[in-house]
Amino acid sequence: MPSCVEEIRKVLVLYTGGTIGMVKNDDGVYIPASNRFIQKIKSYPELHNEQVLSKYIEGIPEEDYLIMPQIHNRNTILYTIKEYNPLLDSSNMSVDDWVRIVKDIESFYDYYDGFVILHGTDTLAYTASALSFMLEDLQKAVIVTGSQIPIFEVRSDAKDNFLSSLIFAGCYKIPEVCVCFANQLLRGNRTVKFSSCNLEAFNSPNYGPLGIVGINFEVYPNNIAKINNTKTLKVYTEMSKNVAMIQLFPTISADMLIAFLKPPTMGVIIESYGIGNIPSKRADLLDVLVQAIKRDVIVVNITQCCQGTVDSTYETGKILEQLGIIPGHDMTVEAALSKLSYVLGLSLSLTAKKQLMKTNLRGELTQH
Ligand code: ASP
Repeated sequence: MPSCVEEIRKVLVLYTGGTIGMVKNDDGVYIPASNRFIQKIKSYPELHNEQVLSKYIEGIPEEDYLIMPQIHNRNTILYTIKEYNPLLDSSNMSVDDWVRIVKDIESFYDYYDGFVILHGTDTLAYTASALSFMLEDLQKAVIVTGSQIPIFEVRSDAKDNFLSSLIFAGCYKIPEVCVCFANQLLRGNRTVKFSSCNLEAFNSPNYGPLGIVGINFEVYPNNIAKINNTKTLKVYTEMSKNVAMIQLFPTISADMLIAFLKPPTMGVIIESYGIGNIPSKRADLLDVLVQAIKRDVIVVNITQCCQGTVDSTYETGKILEQLGIIPGHDMTVEAALSKLSYVLGLSLSLTAKKQLMKTNLRGELTQH
C-alpha cells in the first residue's frame, strides 16, 4: 500500500513550458517567460525555505536549484528545477520533446525518488500518454502538471497543482506516469483535457482517479499499478512520426480518407461513431481501408464519444473487425495515438505490433 515516508525525498522537476510560467507580451497575449518561474517559486515560504535548505545542501551538486518545502512537519522534499530552453507552449511540442523528457528521466532516474513535469495543458494528455509507453517498468512516480492561470497572477491554480505534484512524486510510491491537476491524481494515459476554461481541466472518462487532494492526501491502492522492484526501467525513444488520426463525420469522402492513409502513414486511429460503428453501406470508404490494410498500415478503431469503449454489438461495428481493423477498446485518443507511435517504433513483426495494440500494456485500456 502506498504510504508517506518520514525522510528527505528528492524530486526532479522538468519545466517544459505552458501557461504555468507564461506572461503577457506587448500584444497582450501569453508567451513563455524564461528565468522567471524559479524566482517566483523561491518567493513562497511553503515551497522554498532558504534557512532549512542550508542544513542539507552541503555536498549536493545542484545547489543552485535546490529548494525545500516542509510538508506537515513530516516530510522534507529537496527538489531541483531544470528549466528547458526554449520553454514551449505545448501546442508546439512534438515527439522530439517527449524524447527529451524521457532521456532526462533516464539520466537522473537513480538520483531522485520521483519526477514532476511542468507542461502546457493543451497537449499534456498526449505527453502523459506517450511517456507511459516510453518508460517501461517504471518504479517511481512521474507526475505531469501545469495550470490554467499563470503563477504570476493572483487567482492562479499553479501553486496548488505544483505543490500537490511534488508531494505525490516525493512522498508516495506510485510507479506510474500520472496527471495531477485540480486536486485529482489521474492515470496519465487515461487522461483527457475536457475543458479549455475550467480550473478542473482534465478528467479520466474510463478509469477512476488514482488519488485525491483534500484536507488529506488520499491514494487508491486498487487503482494504482503495483511496484515490482525486480524490474528495471527500460526507455524507448524510437517513436514513429507516421501516425495519424481521423474522426468519421457524415460528409467524409473516400479522397479525404485516402489523403490520411497514403504513405508514409504507417498507422491510423479511426474515431468511429458510438460503440465503434462506421458507415457499412459506404463501399468507397471500406475499400480505402482495405487497401491501406493490405499495404500493412495498422488501423485502430476507437470511439469518438467522450466516454466508453468500442464493441462489435452492431453490424456496422462488426464489419471493422472483419476488415482487419484493430479494436482499441476504451483507449483515449491521446493514448491510442501515442501507443501506435510507440508500437510502430518497436522491432517486431506486423502481427506482433497489431497484437500489442489490442493488449493492455500500461493500464491504458480495459479488456473485456
Ligand atoms: N497553450 C497553453 C499550453 O498548452 C495552455 C496551457 O498551458 O494551459 O502551453
